[in-house]
Amino acid sequence: MSRLVRDVLVEAPTVAPTARGEDVYELFSHDDDLLVVAVVDNRHPVGLVTRDQFFLRMADRHGRALFSKRPITFLMNKEPLIVEASTPVEALNARIVRDRPSALMEGFVAVRQGEFVGVGTSLELFTAMARESEERNHKLSALAEQLGRARIEALAASKAKSDFLATMSHEIRTPLNGVLGIAQLLTATDLDEEQTEFVRVIDDSGQILLRLLNDILDLSKIEAGKMDLDIHPFNPKQLAQDAQTLWQGRAREKGITFTIEVSGAEGREFKGDPVRLKQILFNLIGNAIKFTDQGMVDVSMVFHDIGRKRSVMRIEVRDSGCGIPLSAQERMFTAFTQADAETTRRHGGSGLGLAICKRLVDLMGGTIGFRSVENEGSTFWFEVPLKVYFGEQTAGSTEDIAHEEETAVTTTRVLVAEDNPVNQAVAKGFLKLKGLTADYVENGKLALEAVQARSYDLILMDMEMPVMDGIAATQAIRALTSEAATIPIIALTANALSGAAERCIAAGMSSHVSKPVERDALFSAIDAALAMDRRENRKVA
Ligand code: ADP
Repeated sequence: MSRLVRDVLVEAPTVAPTARGEDVYELFSHDDDLLVVAVVDNRHPVGLVTRDQFFLRMADRHGRALFSKRPITFLMNKEPLIVEASTPVEALNARIVRDRPSALMEGFVAVRQGEFVGVGTSLELFTAMARESEERNHKLSALAEQLGRARIEALAASKAKSDFLATMSHEIRTPLNGVLGIAQLLTATDLDEEQTEFVRVIDDSGQILLRLLNDILDLSKIEAGKMDLDIHPFNPKQLAQDAQTLWQGRAREKGITFTIEVSGAEGREFKGDPVRLKQILFNLIGNAIKFTDQGMVDVSMVFHDIGRKRSVMRIEVRDSGCGIPLSAQERMFTAFTQADAETTRRHGGSGLGLAICKRLVDLMGGTIGFRSVENEGSTFWFEVPLKVYFGEQTAGSTEDIAHEEETAVTTTRVLVAEDNPVNQAVAKGFLKLKGLTADYVENGKLALEAVQARSYDLILMDMEMPVMDGIAATQAIRALTSEAATIPIIALTANALSGAAERCIAAGMSSHVSKPVERDALFSAIDAALAMDRRENRKVA
């Protein structure tokens, strides 16, 4: 709290204008601490006498003779600094420093509506100011301590939140895996029209739930600083091709044109995180198609080189859709925000897509933005810096794996290590569809024992199992000295866990398929694993 002038006044006697020099001499000589005496006429201040000035004058030649018998008005400062008693000390100080530095030596008079209240000295002012700044420092350090504590609590809360989300999403993913897997299996059975429709609804709803789960998890991972980019060379033409393949069907269904153009890439590869770039691009294209009922969605992917080694990739997604009202435009990249409740209800979505895109682009050191005119269309764009990749092109060694003789497949022995009965049932269903039978064990330790007791051609290995998890089991199998050490192992990963795929490969697994398992992804992983040269697996171990 700030002090007022009236709080810092000093105890000092006052004298009338008629008092003589010798009276004041008396006052000063009796009290060594007395610095000022105010001259007050009928409650109105008329002047101020300061100790040193007074003694200087008195000590002059003839000083005493001249002033002793004269009224004090001959000796006083007739224009002292006069301030209202309710002025804050800080304001008075500022005023003295700015306008009346002389008051530092002379002191000042405090009044209330023109009537004398008391006198003050700069010594008192400084003491008050010093006390005030000391109190302020105290408060500041208490505040800093509070802030520090609040920050620690917030970090702990945020960590708890992301741990909770990671756990929950894993827990939800397992039954969802069951629902989606069985729905896919059902479509392969004999269904009438109504049943087919029911299964389609199950699958659609499951996919929406899965997307939501992935979005929430992505967002929480980014916010917890746990999202790492996986940088490696990629081909922009391939990115464009993938987008074209995925989205042209949906665009055609809606009767809108959909084009993608790449320029400035000149057949080069660039280093970036293609999975995350695809996620951003697909999100923007998905929105553009979702919010456009007629006309077009055009995508351009342009590379601007900065020197020889670096380039900026700018992607623009233009649509002739409903556009975004001005009122909603500034909240576009905030989580759970949607421009218009009505259209969104019609189109679905969680309002997380753009928030994730923004955070991913930030993570890549880029920028994202948009311009939009309601009822005319929108252009969403983003730019990210990328390094040009100069390494040798790796020759595609995966092309010759497709045609393996059927007989090999029918005699193939597969081991599935999976503790969850739902996931086991799903795996069994898929393997049966592919004409394979398998043995089932429910933890890594049993898998290790099984491969030593019988010979297998392939293992599907869950990551998280009791007793011994998938990573430990794989490492133990790869460390065997028998032929079993080279069995191809496909990891079944809940992609909820960050870096799961990398850890599988590092442990010596041959490839990984993420849950919920997609039929085509599993089948091609199985084909590739069975076609590979088993000696390759030994190298990794
Ligand atoms: P979602 O689409 O999952 O709801 P997004 O964060 O991707 O979440 O988008 C948030 C909102 O931004 C959408 O609900 C929509 O209102 C608006 N929006 C995004 N892209 C477009 C677009 N191309 N045209 C019109 N509105 C858009």
